[in-house]
Formats: sequence, C-alpha cells, structure tokens
Amino acid sequence: MGKSGSHHEVVVIGAGVGGIYQIKRLVDLGIDATVLDAAPDLGGTWYWNRYPGARFDSESFTYGYSFSKELLAEWHWKERFSGQPENLRYLNHVADKFDLRRHMQFNCTVEAAHFDETANLWRLRIADGREITCRFVVMALGLLSTPTLPRYEGMDDFKGRSFHTFYWPHEPLDLTGKKVAVIGTGATGIQVIGEIGDKVGSLTVFQRRPNWSAPLNNGPISVEEMAAIRARYDEIFATCARTPGGFEHEPDRRGFYDVSREERLALWDKLYDEPGFGIWLANFREIFMDEKANAEMSEYIADRIRRRVKDPATAEKLIPRDHGFGVQRVPMETRYFEVYNQPNVRLVDISETPIVRVTETGLRTTEGDHEFDVIVYATGFDAITGAFDHMDIRGIGGQTLRDKWRDGPSTFLGMMINGFPNLVMPAGPQSGSASTNYPRGIETGVDWCTELLKHVRERGYVRADATPEAEKRWTEHVTKMYATMLMRKAKSWFTGYNSNVAGHEQGSIRYFVYNGGAPKYVNTIRHVAASGYEGIDFSAGARPPTAAVAGASMAAS
Ligand code: NAP
Repeated sequence: MGKSGSHHEVVVIGAGVGGIYQIKRLVDLGIDATVLDAAPDLGGTWYWNRYPGARFDSESFTYGYSFSKELLAEWHWKERFSGQPENLRYLNHVADKFDLRRHMQFNCTVEAAHFDETANLWRLRIADGREITCRFVVMALGLLSTPTLPRYEGMDDFKGRSFHTFYWPHEPLDLTGKKVAVIGTGATGIQVIGEIGDKVGSLTVFQRRPNWSAPLNNGPISVEEMAAIRARYDEIFATCARTPGGFEHEPDRRGFYDVSREERLALWDKLYDEPGFGIWLANFREIFMDEKANAEMSEYIADRIRRRVKDPATAEKLIPRDHGFGVQRVPMETRYFEVYNQPNVRLVDISETPIVRVTETGLRTTEGDHEFDVIVYATGFDAITGAFDHMDIRGIGGQTLRDKWRDGPSTFLGMMINGFPNLVMPAGPQSGSASTNYPRGIETGVDWCTELLKHVRERGYVRADATPEAEKRWTEHVTKMYATMLMRKAKSWFTGYNSNVAGHEQGSIRYFVYNGGAPKYVNTIRHVAASGYEGIDFSAGARPPTAAVAGASMAAS
C-alpha cells in the first residue's frame, strides 16, 4: 500500500492546539516525532475558521498555553476574547519560539492508519502515496474539524459564491452591498451574523432551530491590565484546574431553591452583563439538571431577547422551544439580537418554510425564491468522531474503528481504544478534555499521553492496549453521567446529532463527552497513571527496528 516513506517513533496527526503542544513535549524528551496535517499550515481550528466574528469564547488568558512562563510573560492578549487572526498569530508564535515547525509536515492528509501486528507498528498511508510508519500514533484530530453541509438539491448550480464557514475564503472578501444568506444559527452562525449584519447590502438568516445565546461582552486588554493578568497567571490556572469547565467561572454553590427569586434575578442580571460564560457556568447547578429551575432560567433569557428585538414576532422566533438554556454549549454573541432590528436583515424560519433547493441565483423555500450573491453555510460539524470516521483506521485483526464506533464511541478514559494499541488521543471522545476550556484539557491530555509513551519506552514494551473490561467500565461510567443531565434531551453535536450525517440524524444519543468536570477527570487519569496504568495491557517483546521496518509493505497489513 504505497511508496515507503519515513519511520518515526511517534506520529502526531493534527497541528492544532493539541498537536503543537504534543510535539513540544516529544521534542523536549528527545523522541523522534513528526506532526502531519492536511492543512497547508499549522493552527487547526484557528487556521481554518476565518469567518468574520470568529473568536474565543474562553477568556484569552485562560485559553493560551500554560506550560511556559516565558511565553506567558511575553504574550499580550489584546482582547478579552481574542479573534481568529490574533489566535493564529499566537499559535505561529509558539511554534516559532520553540522551533517546532521543522517537525511538522503540511498538505499531508492521512488516509489510513493500519496496525501491523507482526512488527507492532502503525502504517500510515498519506494521500500523496507515501507510507509513514511509527510505533505510536497520537490522534490530535480536533473535536470540530470535519465540517458538514446540508444535502440540498442543486447546491452546485448556484452561480454566486457559497462556502461553509470553515472554508471562509482566505483572500479578502468584500461583502459591501452584497446580498448574503447565512444558513445555520449555532455558535458560528451567531458570530458571523452579528459581525456582518451592518456590513452587507442585505442579510437573510435561514434558521431551522434557534439557540439560546448570551452576550460575550468582549473588550480590549490594556498594557496595564495585561500586566495585572500576568501577575495572576498562577492563580488563574489554579482556578481553571479547580472548576468543572476549566474556566475562571465557578458555579454558584447556593441552592437554586435556597435563595429567593429576587436573589436569582440579581445574580442573572449581574452575569448577563459580565464577560464570557459566567451566565452559563457561574450559574446555579440546578439549571443543568432540574427542569423547573431550567425553565425559570430560560424564561429569564427569553425576556432578555424580547427586550432586545423590536419586532415581537421575530423575537419569538429567536427563542428556542425545544430545549432549555444551557443544556447545550451556549453560543456567545455580540450585537446578535440587535442585528434583527436593522432594515436590511431578515429572518426566515425554515422550520415553517423549509429550503427546497439551491437555484442558480439563490435559495428556494416553500414560500418562494430568494436571490443572493453569497450563500454561507454555518451548518456545523461531524463532531468528535467525524475526523476518526474519515480515516481508515484498523487495529488488531483488521477491525475498523468506523465499525467499532458505528453506534457511538467506546474508549478508556477518552484516550485509548481497546484493539487499537499504541494509539492515544489527548482529547478524544469521552475524555474530560472534550468538555472543558479546550487548551486546559489539552494540556492535561497531552501530558498524560506523553507520560504513557515514556512508560512504554522506558520499560521496553512493544504494545500498550486498553483492556476490554477497562474500556467497558469507562464507557458505562461516561454513559451513566448523562442520566442526570438535561443535556441528554437536546439535539446537539454534544449528543451526536447532525442532520447532515448518515446515522446521526435521528438524534439517538451518542455518549461523546465526559460530564464529570475537569477536576474529577484529572484525578481519575492521574490515579490510573500512579497505579501503574491499571486498565492497560502492556506486552514486552523485541523492539522493532526503525528504518528497515519502514520498508515493509502496508499492503501486508
Ligand atoms: P452547530 O452548533 O452544530 O450549528 C449548526 C447550525 O446549522 C444549526 O443552527 C443547525 O440547525 C443548522 N443546520 C445544520 N444543517 C442544516 C440544514 N441541513 N438545514 C438547515 N440548517 C441546518 O455548529 P456551529 O455553529 O459551527 O458550532 C459548533 C460548535 O463549534 C459550537 O458549539 C462551539 O463548541 C464551537 N464554536 C465555538 C466558537 C467560539 O466562540 N469559540 C465559535 C463557533 C463555534 P439545527 O439546530 O436545527 O440542527
């Protein structure tokens, strides 16, 4: 299967936030490793998503890496929630500062990864025909890296420009005076709509289901404020490590029903005007689990929407009815609701008048034809497992991961998969990293995987594989935690729903994330490591030679 290429001890797939930190750890340990990424350059999410309005919803200073004091001391985050161009500059700065770029290969799509049981190697097939072998493979694929498009008839007929937000053009795109359609009102749609509403000729938003969203309240960070943040970094990261979501926002520990309605309103009024996820994560914990508490909170946010949108009928359309506030990740907005007060902006409710097809000039709904110059698909991702499904990954006995995960993922700690030895996922499905402030989880996950690789190398093992029992226990544990969460009732990517992906349309739940909070997750994985990796089978044997083995054929695997 393919021309023989190089051999490395470790191959990291993905040069995003996770892959960059992973290669840093490996290089520091003197381990021969390379990063492969399909993109023309590093940055992952922040390389691709260049749509107007793309920015962090984590406070910038809690999103940056914490591993280097020098890096923390020199980087100035200019906005509380930094935008995509700056975020990409930051990741490039990190790669250049630590000279990591020379360990990365771009335009390098990994089509297949097969475990060669005889040689105890992973054989990777690259789209350019090369074969790269490695002892360990680190899947740093990203949670939201496989964009999905609707399956409308006529999508290729449109004569204007159309693209998914993930593929927003890299060259400047002047939307002045243009007739623009945005399909989708998730976190991405909400960001792009809020940003372009007053810059385009006309904007028509096609909304199937509205999302609850609340103000981001972004602002600049002055030199003085940044100095104060730098002085506080230890405390900031300690707080992030202590909170369930890996943020500085800590849940309100008072019982929802132990305080008066006035006290609840006072908290919500305060949080609504504060920056970031406070309104979601510094709220009462009951809103995630108790229908009545959730309904009261949802009604509070609904009233805020009614106060901000002038046309009552439009306001009602923007209020979700099928799920309560906070049971899915809350999109943070900037001027989103006010956009609908502009005369050039129109909301089309496609739950009432569905899109029938794309035409040469625009979109046809059951209500009639709409003409556009540009159609923007803000239609989301084949989340969490999509990037794995797109690769032909085969483990012991030729078992494919796609088959194993057909009805949903099963993992050990969200970082290993039984039957797929020497493959680790620093932020895989069912890991705690997937449900927290991403880089905080990433650093923990990468550190854990790196320590495991060290353990295997130092003891001369040739294989590390999660046991079936450990995987079953973990998957049941992850599954059980959904039972108390209202989240299980919401159709969102967090529960595996995507109307554009075969098998994911019905919203039959997939147990994608660990919901026990970051501190509990970190304790668990550290305990596993401290116990000598209970739940992982190690096998000894002759270490495979390096370059010579690379020459063996993937065809045999
Ligand atoms: P999303 O939340 O899955 O939203 C996709 C939107 O497209 C939904 O409104 C969906 O409607 C609509 N849609 C999908 N297929 C459609 C179809 N065939 N016809 C009509 N409408 C369709 O995706 P996203 O907005 O890209 O956000 C995904 C995640 O990315 C977020 O939850 C967040 O974690 C992350 N994100 C983060 C930031 C940030 O601030 N850092 C920004 C953007 C995204 P339905 O709801 O009816 O399916």
